[in-house]
This record gives sequence, structure tokens and C-alpha cells, in this order.
Amino acid sequence: TESKRFSKFDSARLIDADKAHYMHGYHVFDDHREQGSLTIVDGEGAHIQDAEGQRYLDAVGGMWCTNIGLGREEMVEAIADQTRRLAYSNSFCDMANDRAIELSEKLAELAPGDLNRVFLTTGGSTAVDTAIRLVHFYQNCRGKPEKKQVITRINAYHGSTYLTMSLGGKQADRPPEFDFLSDGIHHLSCPYPYREAQGRSEAEFLEALVAEFEARIAEVGAERIGAFLAEPIMGSGGVIIPPEGYHRRMWEVCRRHDILYISDEVVTSFGRLGHFFASEDEFGVIPDIITTAKGLTSGYQPLGACIFSERLWEVIAEPGTGRCFSHGFTYSGHPVACAAALKNIEIIEREALLPRAREVGRYFEERLATLAELPIVGEVRAKCFMACVEFVADKATRELFPEELNIGEWVHLRAERRGLLVRPIVHLNVMSPAVTLTHQEVDFIVDVLRDSILETVEDLRAAGHW
Ligand code: PLP
Repeated sequence: TESKRFSKFDSARLIDADKAHYMHGYHVFDDHREQGSLTIVDGEGAHIQDAEGQRYLDAVGGMWCTNIGLGREEMVEAIADQTRRLAYSNSFCDMANDRAIELSEKLAELAPGDLNRVFLTTGGSTAVDTAIRLVHFYQNCRGKPEKKQVITRINAYHGSTYLTMSLGGKQADRPPEFDFLSDGIHHLSCPYPYREAQGRSEAEFLEALVAEFEARIAEVGAERIGAFLAEPIMGSGGVIIPPEGYHRRMWEVCRRHDILYISDEVVTSFGRLGHFFASEDEFGVIPDIITTAKGLTSGYQPLGACIFSERLWEVIAEPGTGRCFSHGFTYSGHPVACAAALKNIEIIEREALLPRAREVGRYFEERLATLAELPIVGEVRAKCFMACVEFVADKATRELFPEELNIGEWVHLRAERRGLLVRPIVHLNVMSPAVTLTHQEVDFIVDVLRDSILETVEDLRAAGHW
């Protein structure tokens, strides 16, 4: 269908202005100079449309975030109503707004265990940043100022601020032009069975990962480690699904050593894995702190949250100390963003989207698994609406194509021509579509990917790369 607003856009002018003025996230200077960008002007459900009128099924889900789908009139109304009534009000010190209070109460109800305390942020990075500052504050309050080091993992992604990027462990995110913090941050191995298990069974691999954690604690000293930070399933690190029982075991180690467990659910919450939060429902863990964003508003407004336990609250908020948690963003508790989150949650509950996501998510997993038989597919990893196809030059040895070939991009471009967007990350195609996907839309994704992979194989052969 033609875009409702399409006529307003002059794509040639947009391309020029984009090249002249707009520096994107993860801007690749040479590529952008030559090719410009795919300029999106319209969206509905799981579909988006570019400035030239080409329509795509967006299997990327924006950026892991358009969970309930785009263009919902109810969301538009909720955002417009709130903007009309109260577009902004600050949430510092003794100020609050009704929407931020209602959302905090709702998040406390949805979060596991005694995670009843909510700090609202502007997105995922600021939620993780807040979590680390909260760990510092908490440890200082309880008289353990030395207990602040953080353990994370190779391939982790926790955001794009100086601190959160330093916590991350993706090699591709650490180009030599950027600086990183290294003091007090330790990276454990990535729980990546396909590449790291190296012939060991899943159970043996799990034991090795837990043993590595214990060894690192012994080396650094439990009295110096404040927190362990982990995504339930690593997202931009390549949809890494850890061995069964991994998070539960890591959590038990944390509890034994008085280490706070921070679950970074920026991607995995609000339906992406078929639950509001995956930590307990999917992985049997009740974290001390959960960070969330993205699906919290399904991308309709920028918003994040750092949700933490009553146990932490009791320490930091001890009566009579006169303390102030001197941390806050101008847009913390933004009433319009909170109104969007409340409506988003209402829709997820009213339309029973979580059980539906689990059901269609299983179908998505099954259909994607059929791609594993294709010549250059090394592994297909999928859990509900987080999925990834990993390409290899040799299925037996799992050898990768040369990085500069950018194999993920080959498949992505061929899928794009067929009306499907997947996210290429070097040798991967990553997917996180709207969790409202129909069975037919799942079929479309898998059929187009299959054709695109087969075409890639032919083109690789023709070009002498394979
Ligand atoms: N944490 C995780 C697990 C993420 O995947 C992301 C973003 O992709 C972030 C944090 C950062 O969120 P934001 O981009 O909203 O700052």
C-alpha cells in the first residue's frame, strides 16, 4: 500500500541532506559518503516504507524495539492526549508526575521478586549507567567502598555511553580511535556453545564457565567485586543463547559471594522472549537489578528503567542519614514517554500478546531451523523473537568467511531487494521482529531468507569466493 505521507518526501533531497548533515549511530563514513542511507518514512505493524515507496517487512524490529508493531492509533492517541495535558514536568527531588508514578507502580508489579523500586531513564544506556552508579552508592552506603568492580562478558553489549561501552565486550565496538575504561571491569568468556564449547558437551561447557567465574572471583577477591552484569540472551553480540542453567548457576555464585546480579533486559523484556521480564520466567533468576528500555514503549517514545530490589532500597534509603541519590536526567519520568509505556503495557495485556508471542515464537524457531541445511549456514539460533543465522565458509570446520567479505551484508542486500530487512553483523544476520508477527509473516521471512541465502551461494561461487 502507498504511504499515507509519501507525497511529502523528496528522496533525492533527503539523500543530499543526510550526507551533508546527519551523522548516524555507528556511522561508517566511507559507505555513507558513497551510498547514503535507507531512509524510512512510514511504518505500520511489522512493515516499514522508504522514501522511494519500497515496502519492507522489518525483521530487525527497528532496533529490537518495535514490539507491538508500528502505527497503532491507540498509542498515537495516548501520546497526543498526554502531550496536550502535560508535555513535560521534571522529576527531580520532590517533584513527580502522575504518569511516572503509575508506570513505576506497574513496573514494580511486573518485575520479579522484591524488585519494587524504579528509576526511570531515557533509554537502555542510561538505565545500565544508573545501575552501576546504584551499585557504587549501595556499596558506599553499606561501608564497602572497595566492593565496586564489575564482571561482564566478552561479546556483551550494554550501551553506548563511555561507561556502558566499556562494560561491553564486542571487539567490533572497540576500534582504536575510541578510548575505554578498563579499571574495575573484567570480562568473562562468552557462553557461546557453537564457537566456545569446542567439543565439550553443553553440561561440560557450563561447568567450565562457572569454574571460570569462580576463579576470577578468587583472583580479584569477592570483597572487591560489586556486581555481575549480563544480558539473559546476548543481543547484538550475536543472539548468544547460553547453555541450559547458565544464568541460574551464575546467580547462585553471585549470591554465595555477595555480588549483585544485574540482568540487562533492555532487549529481552516486554514480549521479546514471550514474558514481561525473562530473568525469572525463562531463566529462573531473581536479579538484584533489572535494566529495561526498547520494548517498554515499543519504540513509540524513548524511555528506560532501572528496577531494583527492596533489599538495596533499605540500605540506600536508611532513614535519618540525610542522603541524596544525586543522579537524574532532565527526561527521567517524562510524562509522555511514561504514558506511551503504560498504553504499551495495557495493549500487551489486553491482547494477550505474551502467550501469543510464545506460540508464534515457537513457530518462528521451527521454521528458521530449516535454514540450517543450507550450504553456508553454520548455525541458526532462535529463542522466541530473538533470532540469528550464522554464516560459515565451511560447515564442518565452522571456519568463517574473511571478515572484509562481509557475508552478512551479502544476504541482507539480497533480502532487502525481496522486501525483507534483516540486520547484518559481519557473518551474522540478526532478527528481532515485532512480537505481533503472524504465521504468514514468519513464513515470508524464512522463505525470503532461504532464497537470499541460495542466491548468495550462487553469487559467491560466480565471484570465486566459495
Ligand atoms: N543494553 C542492551 C542489552 C542493549 O541491547 C542496548 C541497545 O541495543 C542497550 C543496553 C543500550 O540501549 P540504548 O541504545 O537505548 O541506550
